[in-house]
Amino acid sequence: MSVAAEPMIVVGNLDVTFAGGRSRTAAVQGVSFDVTRGGSFGIVGESGSGKSTVLKAVAGLIDVRPGSIRINGQVKGAKRTKADRKLLQYVFQDPYGSLHPRQTVDRTLREPLAIHGLGGADERIVAALADVGLDSRHRYSYPHQLSGGQRQRVAIARALILSPSILLLDEPTSALDVSVQAEILNLLAELRKARSLTTIFVSHDLAVIAHFCERAAIMREGRIVETVSAQTLRDGDAGQPYSRSLIAASRGYQRARAASP
Ligand code: ADP
Ligand code: MG
Repeated sequence: MSVAAEPMIVVGNLDVTFAGGRSRTAAVQGVSFDVTRGGSFGIVGESGSGKSTVLKAVAGLIDVRPGSIRINGQVKGAKRTKADRKLLQYVFQDPYGSLHPRQTVDRTLREPLAIHGLGGADERIVAALADVGLDSRHRYSYPHQLSGGQRQRVAIARALILSPSILLLDEPTSALDVSVQAEILNLLAELRKARSLTTIFVSHDLAVIAHFCERAAIMREGRIVETVSAQTLRDGDAGQPYSRSLIAASRGYQRARAASP
């Protein structure tokens, strides 16, 4: 298969076991999926089901068996080159924890440009702030001077300033107030379309995954129960009983949330 015909991300029979002292946790077992170029893939499941571990393996933050991760037609382990880091970026749940408390927004955005030797930093920073809908007056602000939503916009700007092809999102809206969650989700959806980004979106929130992704894997205890379309998530007609119960539980929660004052 030529490189262009191969999906952007191919995960094949991925296993991750954490060993600590005498205990071993099989966090991920036999996970396989692929994501087409420009596709949006979701991973949904309860807390502890292995979602973040899969994403970290794709990001190169965890070492894995050679060959279980292919990106852009190449086998990728935890050793990533500068070019790999430009190709793939990620945004995590906690925008406060992921931003340096004593660095201004300007410095946070300038750093990746310097590391990759890109010129025109000032223009790029101004454009990056505009792209994520952050007013230029926040350019010299510190994280504690920003709201949760604004901080997550900074984290998104930092991820996108190198113009990656792949964006990995780990619960990017879960730490935010409900009112701000939709704003950030819409921003991510717009950016994904405008830049033809290949995305993997991890969330415990099925409604969020159904909104953002074309396809999603439902995970339970380190394994994929099944991979379904967004339409199936919305219709609730998944093949596996576990998936159907997860969808039903999510709907009950949505109704309760809508009914609460
Ligand atoms: P999720 O993102 O779905 O909540 P995780 O991928 O974070 O789940 O975790 C999957 C399992 O692996 C859990 O049992 C978790 O406790 C365990 N785990 C995750 N990271 C580590 C680690 N660094 N060391 C040991 N165990 C871990
Ligand atoms: Mg997680």
